[in-house]
Amino acid sequence: MLTSLVELAEYAALRTSPQVAVELLGLIPVSALDAMRRARFRRTLRIAARRSSFYREQFHRRGIDVRRIDDPEQLGDFYTTGEDLRSIGADAFLVRRADTAFETTGTTSPVPKRVFFARREIADMGRLSALWLHLLGLRRDDRVASAFDCSFWVSPYVLRSGLDLLGCFHVEAGKIEPAEFYDRAKAYAPSAIFGEPSWVVRLAEIAAARGAWPVKFLLAGGENISESARALVEQAWGAPLYLNYGQTESFGALGAECRAKSGYHRNDLYFLFEIRDPDATGCGELVYTTLSNRVMPLIRYRSSDLTRLVDDRCSCGIRMARIAKILGRCDEMVVCGMGNVGPWVFEELLRGVAGADADWQAVIGHDGRRDVVILHVETRSTSAPQLRAQVLTHLRERFSDFWRNRDMQLYELDVTAHPVGSLRGHGRKLRRVVDERLMEARASMSSA
Ligand SMILES: [Zn+2]
Repeated sequence: MLTSLVELAEYAALRTSPQVAVELLGLIPVSALDAMRRARFRRTLRIAARRSSFYREQFHRRGIDVRRIDDPEQLGDFYTTGEDLRSIGADAFLVRRADTAFETTGTTSPVPKRVFFARREIADMGRLSALWLHLLGLRRDDRVASAFDCSFWVSPYVLRSGLDLLGCFHVEAGKIEPAEFYDRAKAYAPSAIFGEPSWVVRLAEIAAARGAWPVKFLLAGGENISESARALVEQAWGAPLYLNYGQTESFGALGAECRAKSGYHRNDLYFLFEIRDPDATGCGELVYTTLSNRVMPLIRYRSSDLTRLVDDRCSCGIRMARIAKILGRCDEMVVCGMGNVGPWVFEELLRGVAGADADWQAVIGHDGRRDVVILHVETRSTSAPQLRAQVLTHLRERFSDFWRNRDMQLYELDVTAHPVGSLRGHGRKLRRVVDERLMEARASMSSA
């Protein structure tokens, strides 16, 4: 009874103006929201067990009776992973007919993960986006220009759905060269600019050199950003840069920054969040269960992102709890200006390179402006410039997206040569992809 009342309040709130919605949602007591989440969690489990072959089989094999489960922890060591999506196939997760799909690449394989949805889910996410953009100050008379990659990616569609509700002007550039965007977008005088973080940084460099126009804010999503790069963007435009945190699997925003920019206010209406194997500081892998997905529910989905949950009140006054800044990935995948890269990417770059017949290691760092990818390669006689030339040829021939991002100067790629046997040191397991930015983030968190 309480849950259906809360659901009714939520339904009504999300269909009023964003201003009223914020106030209405703020009136729902935390305990009632929690009860609603539990009820949605139980419903998700029951539907999944009944209609999805993957969940039915998993629960059966583990002796899990979903009627007895009230809490995610009662599912023990049952989790869903990106590898499940890829190896078993998305079809086994479906509980209803899908009418749209998106894809995400990365982790340890070139095979994309396919995720299915209902188009009306875009409208639901759009309502929350509209609410959030309103909180950040976006109004009907604002003008938005976005440069999201429209190829199999969910973000441009969710944004468009949100802007439809806010009613503001919107022009979509797609992910084109930042310099071209600057020239063409300027004519529309956009007061808000949306794009991927590394792309937004490159655009800021152009704006710093050629002049910025008045902007209310910039919003970036799809990867992390260093605070030094954020400062560069904000200085160039004289406006804040906000980040959004989501995954294609979650269908857009798991959380979004407020004006305080200290973590992401989390979407507790649509997701149940947990931290897997937290350390002493509460930091571990973010795990979420979708509570409102009509087509492809994800139960205890492992995000591979390292962070912690923050329940303290934010200085901005918004009551929603937060996800702390993302520290990095648990697997060897790295999200950077190059794109989503894992060991297989570098193996493919080195395949057939003359002289690169021993170990290698990729190190991703940041020079204050953009990500720098250095591929360390062991070789007997080939020089670094020779290796570099071959690697760049393979980058152009085998990874058009990564090549394009390099053309746009979203990152730098360099190759260094090392004697055979030197990278591995004393026979230890060689970590293929090292994210130095992660170490930097950990250090700044422990000193905060
Ligand atoms: Zn806040």
